[in-house]
Amino acid sequence: MKQLSTKIFFGYLTIILLLSGMIVYFSYQTISHHYYEYAVQELTDLSNTISWQIKPYLLDNKEGNIPQIDSVTKLIGSKINNRVTIIQVDGLVLGDSKANPYKMENHKNRPEIIEASNGKISSNKRYSNTVRKEMIYVAVPIYDNSNKIIGFCRVSLFVDFFDNLLFKLRFDIIQIAIITVIFSLVMVMIFSKNISKPINLLSFAARKVAAGDFNVLLKVSNKRDEIEELMDNFNNMTEQLKKLFEKVTNQTEKLNTFFSIIQEGLIVLNSKNEIVLSNISFQKLFNNYKLENVKISKIINENEFLDIISNVRSKKESKTREIQIVGLNFLVSVNYLATTNELVILLHNISDIKKLQSYKKDFIINASHELRTPLTAIKGFVETLEEELKGDKLRYVEIIKRHTDRLINIVNDLLSLSELEQTNINLDIQRLNIKDIIEDIIKLFDQKIKLKQLKLNIKYENNLKDIVGDKFRIEQVIVNLMDNAIKYTDVGSINIDVRTEDINLILEIIDTGIGIPVDDQIRIFERFYIVDKSRSRKVGGTGLGLSIVKHIINLHYGEITLESKVGQGTRFTIKLPLA
Ligand code: ADP
Repeated sequence: MKQLSTKIFFGYLTIILLLSGMIVYFSYQTISHHYYEYAVQELTDLSNTISWQIKPYLLDNKEGNIPQIDSVTKLIGSKINNRVTIIQVDGLVLGDSKANPYKMENHKNRPEIIEASNGKISSNKRYSNTVRKEMIYVAVPIYDNSNKIIGFCRVSLFVDFFDNLLFKLRFDIIQIAIITVIFSLVMVMIFSKNISKPINLLSFAARKVAAGDFNVLLKVSNKRDEIEELMDNFNNMTEQLKKLFEKVTNQTEKLNTFFSIIQEGLIVLNSKNEIVLSNISFQKLFNNYKLENVKISKIINENEFLDIISNVRSKKESKTREIQIVGLNFLVSVNYLATTNELVILLHNISDIKKLQSYKKDFIINASHELRTPLTAIKGFVETLEEELKGDKLRYVEIIKRHTDRLINIVNDLLSLSELEQTNINLDIQRLNIKDIIEDIIKLFDQKIKLKQLKLNIKYENNLKDIVGDKFRIEQVIVNLMDNAIKYTDVGSINIDVRTEDINLILEIIDTGIGIPVDDQIRIFERFYIVDKSRSRKVGGTGLGLSIVKHIINLHYGEITLESKVGQGTRFTIKLPLA
């Protein structure tokens, strides 16, 4: 990685070199141009001065005057560093400070002489055949008193001399430029180091923070430029990050402790059904402590379990079910996390509870069986006694009979319930016509209805479709509900309404009885739940009837609901799928 200071240094180096080169080039060009102009001006002034001195000789010009003019010219030339040439108006050279005028060719066509003959003063730089060197020439016309050109004075300068001067000038400029460049580079070096130092510090600190070390603190002075501001903000950010990190670590530790103390097996599955988190209880259950990223099907390969997982995923709603896994009973709760598309699964081992339940059931069945025979015998003898006794004794025997009946009902209901709760219960499934069943049942209640002077109204929808189910169990449901309706209704009527809705049969048994308080309505299907104990006892209730009804409806994939108002009556609604 190239350092920032190097980058800045080379950037500035390029700019400085470019600028210095340009300054050297343009300043040299400008200075040399001015220098040339100045030299020409000097030569012009000199020419004019010499013209004045030569003019009298020219006015007095005769053939024999050439040596005199030439010697004056040579005398003037020796005093100055320039070559002086005096030319007659026709181009004849009359004198030259560096050559013999007799040997020199006619100068009429020299560019500076042509210009001067037109009254103009101009400079010309060219090679001199006479002195065989490059020269700068300036020629001025010499006028007589009537303003007529009588000759020319030409002063020239050796380009060598001029070049030497310019070379020295160039050397000086370059020298100054080099010193300036070196000085600037030293300054740039210091400057770039100053800029990159805090940035390097920042970069080093950022690397440390990225590696998880939050104990870095950058020194910030009071100068407060943008970089210092950045460093200060970096310190604040690191402080905040440190606090946040501590908080997250703390929470993670808490969560881990919480996970590890949960007795239930707990796992979290990602969208690919791989385990991303598992607690110790789960790991112990499957004797496996390396479960991360393992597919759940490799650990629990039970169809029922895998089905509930895919079901929860597709429906995106949580579900709880009892499932047997590796010979144990679990209450499995699968919860869907919409934000991460993950599943949180809790496995509660209910094997012991199940065993206890099964012992309880066995006990109830055995006890009920054992009680049934002596109770039937007692009932038989009580009925015999009933026929023979009168007065107070008959009343006592009737009380015994009522209690015996109640006991027999409880025992029968308990046996019925235990049978329904068995997982492998056998239902005698067949096509059933509900109208036929109801017609048979109501005959059983004729007597009771008449005795209580109630009205019975039955309404069937035309062309009712059949349902499928166990005839005996469905009869049990209607008998129980009818029995309750009559038991808990003193005046009014019992209404039965049968109809179809979509794919279901709806059977409603509505009474105008005492009704059930709202608080009791949710518990009404629990075993032994009785709203009014004294009334129930009086009418021979066991508190098991609705439990049995609910079980049977569930076994037929149906639903039972109730609506009730105290003092107005109760409506039980049963929904059963049509055949
Ligand atoms: P029970 O044998 O006592 O009738 P159920 O399980 O059939 O037991 O009913 C539970 C309780 O629900 C009853 O004791 C009674 O308080 C209440 N109940 C049931 N049906 C009705 C009804 N039609 N009207 C009023 N109360 C009812």
